[in-house]
Amino acid sequence: MEEGGRMRVEMGTGMRVEIGSDHRGYPLKARLSAWLRERGWEVNDHGCESAESCDYPEFAFRVARAVAASPGSLGVLMCGSGIGMSIAANKVRGVRAALCLTPRMATLSRQHNDANVLALGADLLPEAENLAILSAWLEAKFEGGRHERRVGMLAGGPSAGGAKPPAPDGGRAPAAGARPSGEEASMDPDCVFCRIVAGGIPADKVFEDEAVLAFRDIHPSAPAHVLLIPKAHIASLNELAPQHDALLGRLMRAAKEVAAREGIAGKGYRLVGNCGREAGQEVMHIHFHLLGGRPLGWPPG
Ligand code: AMP
Ligand code: ZN
Repeated sequence: MEEGGRMRVEMGTGMRVEIGSDHRGYPLKARLSAWLRERGWEVNDHGCESAESCDYPEFAFRVARAVAASPGSLGVLMCGSGIGMSIAANKVRGVRAALCLTPRMATLSRQHNDANVLALGADLLPEAENLAILSAWLEAKFEGGRHERRVGMLAGGPSAGGAKPPAPDGGRAPAAGARPSGEEASMDPDCVFCRIVAGGIPADKVFEDEAVLAFRDIHPSAPAHVLLIPKAHIASLNELAPQHDALLGRLMRAAKEVAAREGIAGKGYRLVGNCGREAGQEVMHIHFHLLGGRPLGWPPG
């Protein structure tokens, strides 16, 4: 057995692993990346780029979004303990991140839980042990059967089983029907705009910050036609909840910024949010159309 475990990890040829770390996991990421490439895996490194202090959720979300956007894909996240990375990654819908400290845990996380993200604690174990954990994880296969049902239940969320569980998060969970804030449940792999956020579908981006993305509409209705969306998945205006107040404020200010960049701030522009079928909402991920560059009739529609 070589460093990092079994020699037989060859099924990786042609397959890709999304990887990411914070500063504490950075040296392990470099080592692990080389280890994977030597074995024929394509490695998509989402950062960080140095051992300088940075915030783990940013890199966890990047990797988690990439994995969620591409069913069947795998991700590996590293920070000091692996704990923060696993907590963050598990907030993205479709991700099952497992923090593993032994090869046995890694094998079981694949066989029973179909884990698609592996979280490693760079400070907790020697590099060779973390590589052995990765090797075991890549070799193991989901067993399906009774585990299929249980993993399916995970996708449905806590209310899927019919019984109403106590509110998670010490009762700070949002009211029924409201989507949680921030990154929680933020990625819907079937949503075209979520896939644009994750980079799975190309878009002509004109503005981006940590919470908001703006890109040109693929079928423009005006000389300037930009769509503004929150990066987190919120299906429509009907799903807005108090925890989204700051996000929506941010989105409105992004609209102002985009209007200025498009050169239409002075002449005038319109921000349109279609909600529901009769209003013609086609994409069920909340978005606002920024329209300008020509006179806009009133009333619209
Ligand atoms: P709505 O009818 O309000 O749901 O608007 C959805 C908008 O998204 C339409 O104007 C579409 O042209 C636009 N759209 C759909 N898919 C894409 C895409 N992949 N890139 C850019 N715009 C898109
Ligand atoms: Zn979405």
